[in-house]
Amino acid sequence: MNFYTDNKNLEHYLKHPLMQRIVAMQEHDYAQSSEYNYAPIDFAEAVEGYRRVLELVGELCAEVVAPNAMEVENNGPTLCAGRVNYAPATIENLELFRRAGLMGISMPRRFGGLNFPRTIFILIEDIVSRADAAFGNLWGLQDCAETILNFGSDEQKQRYLPKICAGATMSMDLTEPDAGSDLQSVRLKATYSEQDACWYLDGVKRFITNGDSDVHLVLARSEEGSVDGRGLSLFIVEKECGGVHTRRIENKMGIHGSPTCELVFNHAKAELCGSRRMGLIKYVMSLMNGARLGIATQSVGIAQAAYNEALEYARSRKQFGKTIINFPAVYDMVGAMKARLDALRSLLYETARNVDMAGLFDELSRERTLTPQERAESKLFAKKADALTPIVKGIGSEIANMNAYDCVQVHGGSGYMRDYVCERLYRDARITSIYEGTTQLQVVAAIRYATSGFYTQLIEEYLAIDVPAEMLMLHGRIAAMLAAYRQAVERVQSFENQEATDFLARRLYEMAAYTLMSVLLLHDAVADGQLFAKSLHRFVATAESLICGHAAYISAFTPDFLQNYDK
Ligand SMILES: Cc1cc2nc3c(=O)[nH]c(=O)nc-3n(C[C@H](O)[C@H](O)[C@H](O)COP(=O)(O)OP(=O)(O)OC[C@H]3O[C@@H](n4cnc5c(N)ncnc54)[C@H](O)[C@@H]3O)c2cc1C
Repeated sequence: MNFYTDNKNLEHYLKHPLMQRIVAMQEHDYAQSSEYNYAPIDFAEAVEGYRRVLELVGELCAEVVAPNAMEVENNGPTLCAGRVNYAPATIENLELFRRAGLMGISMPRRFGGLNFPRTIFILIEDIVSRADAAFGNLWGLQDCAETILNFGSDEQKQRYLPKICAGATMSMDLTEPDAGSDLQSVRLKATYSEQDACWYLDGVKRFITNGDSDVHLVLARSEEGSVDGRGLSLFIVEKECGGVHTRRIENKMGIHGSPTCELVFNHAKAELCGSRRMGLIKYVMSLMNGARLGIATQSVGIAQAAYNEALEYARSRKQFGKTIINFPAVYDMVGAMKARLDALRSLLYETARNVDMAGLFDELSRERTLTPQERAESKLFAKKADALTPIVKGIGSEIANMNAYDCVQVHGGSGYMRDYVCERLYRDARITSIYEGTTQLQVVAAIRYATSGFYTQLIEEYLAIDVPAEMLMLHGRIAAMLAAYRQAVERVQSFENQEATDFLARRLYEMAAYTLMSVLLLHDAVADGQLFAKSLHRFVATAESLICGHAAYISAFTPDFLQNYDK
């Protein structure tokens, strides 16, 4: 079994035309091949290298990580004297990934990384999350290294990045009991000691994934007397320096293999990452955007696993003398799962490519002055990345939940039993719409792109594509969705009422998201009808019904409707 080669859809994303440019920029026009004998000499060789790694990950996930998932789930991590011990099967997974060199995927080669673009990191994360979302968290947190790479000093990069590439684990310590969605309220105190020439951290963090990690990134209040985000800085804390211990591992609904920790910082020695006061405003925003894309990917992995489980069960279970997949009510559910999954992947990889291009231009701008054309391009890629990330995180997590729900339903009573994988998927999926910013907070992040007309503009651009005759009708239906969305935005704006805008924001967000997914799936279907045409037909029908429903709601709405709610 191999979780990469058994899913032909994944290969498709390696072939996107923009990948040539992403890889060329990532490889500095293939200049590193003289320095590192394993660096590619051209695009074809780079893709061959990605394929080899993807096949290896696919094999490890199918042969070890997925079979280990139940044991990880049942044994889970334990706490002993303030330290977390992973379940034995988690240790086996981590060791395997370390030995295979899969811990510094996107780090530069000079630090011991593989120098892969973000899109390839995401392909790997997609496969790992399908096998076990909880292990996906531990492995995926290596992504925090990007923050040190982008904002740390040269000395910090030299000291931390090789360790992380060799397998040191990471955590992102932001949340506190009174600071969840609202991170401006973070209170953990950072004090500078002139005598020791270093910072010390004191206070509590809660709900920290992999909280007993080797390297922590910690958001703390460095400016005494400040009350908002401008008084917060980002710090690096190393476990081996002491001063941080885990007070408790949360007893939670799902992702049991991923320890969620309450941490106590007791004069923990810390070093500043980047500039003071920029912790939340700049570094955590960037860190969270990366992490949100990670959760969107985890959602895709779970949605894929749920679809696979449902399809397999529906093809084997017999009732009333026939296999249940033959009942329209069942094949409708399974077909909808696949359509949502494919549409979500189209959005995920489009977001990833934009994130890649934005990051690569950013890196280039640190090496040399960009030309005016490059500056304009860079700005547009960054804007698209910023606009698409909250959509893919929020909608992705909701789709993971829908697929997990339908997967249990297809299994009937068996789906409610712990013997079946779908029961775990159902619980694991639930967290995706909560951590890294709830779906409601993704709507808050996205709404300005709805009201500014940016999503409309983006969808119009995507619609400007030549389609084969058999897809012309679908193209027209997506254009009609855009018209309904545009009209809904105009109506909401006509109220000139902030509370009404906030109240209707989720509906506008979903209309934009489903239209975007439809048009991006259309692009994938134009490139490969064999793989995507069926899903496109089904998804457009679902998207239309959601958009018509929301359009009807918004057209009947008036702001006095808000009086009907108790507060
Ligand atoms: C398993 C798990 C792992 C986690 N891992 C990490 C981690 O590694 N690092 C870390 O720092 N944190 C982590 N968290 C914390 C997580 O990011 C927060 O729980 C999450 O951001 C929500 O914050 P909260 O729990 O305080 O909920 P609250 O902020 O209290 O939200 C409660 C409800 O109010 C809504 N709400 C709040 N504000 C608004 C608003 N402005 N507009 C509309 N609705 C709003 C929310 O959507 C939600 O429905 C983890 C949490 C869990 C459960």
